[in-house]
Amino acid sequence: MLEIISQHFEKFSTMSEASRIAVLEIAEREGIDMKKIIVATSFCFDELNHHQAKMNLHSPQGTFIMGGLAGYPFVGNIGLTAFADHVPDGGAALFIFGSHIGISCTGEVGKIKRVGQKRHTNTCGALMMVQNHVLSSEIHEVDAADYSAFQPEFLAIRLLPMADDIRKAEVPILKTTHLVYDEIENEILKLIINNPLLQSEFPVYILGGIVINTDETLPNYFSQKVFRKVH
Ligand SMILES: [Zn+2]
Repeated sequence: MLEIISQHFEKFSTMSEASRIAVLEIAEREGIDMKKIIVATSFCFDELNHHQAKMNLHSPQGTFIMGGLAGYPFVGNIGLTAFADHVPDGGAALFIFGSHIGISCTGEVGKIKRVGQKRHTNTCGALMMVQNHVLSSEIHEVDAADYSAFQPEFLAIRLLPMADDIRKAEVPILKTTHLVYDEIENEILKLIINNPLLQSEFPVYILGGIVINTDETLPNYFSQKVFRKVH
């Protein structure tokens, strides 16, 4: 499995390991107890990204969920303000986020075999549908009356300027996964930087990358793109 993943991602570890290293480093740098670090995640709602055994995130306070479709932080500023109010006294906040993609044991990118199914399914299935929409010639607009279409259509509009890059890519869904990651990172940084509560009393860190889902009971891996203190 590791060999198959390394054909598509230069560096990666398990999601659990990446989060453990981040939490330990924050505790050491800031001279605080690990228990005082609160974690917010922005991952796609797919159950694979919230599966305790597959993720095994180091988040002693539990996790605040920011992510909607594809991992985009659809909770927005209101959600972030609520989260900022939950940071333990003398503690720190860590945002863990990213897009996700499946890689099966047979080497298929964008597909995995889930527990209890014989067939392989698209992963991220929602992003695959958004990608098909981006590459279609259908009209792109957000209809305020249609809540069901809001998240996919919004993402499609964000990705539309990159439609040609996606079309030309060797593995389009891998390209789209990287592109949507960039959108997620930019948006989370913007939310943090523009939030007065998060600018004040406690350190804020980000850990971003691509979650790599694998077959059945294998763990999730994480190809880290960023780990740093925002302020
Ligand atoms: Zn997904």
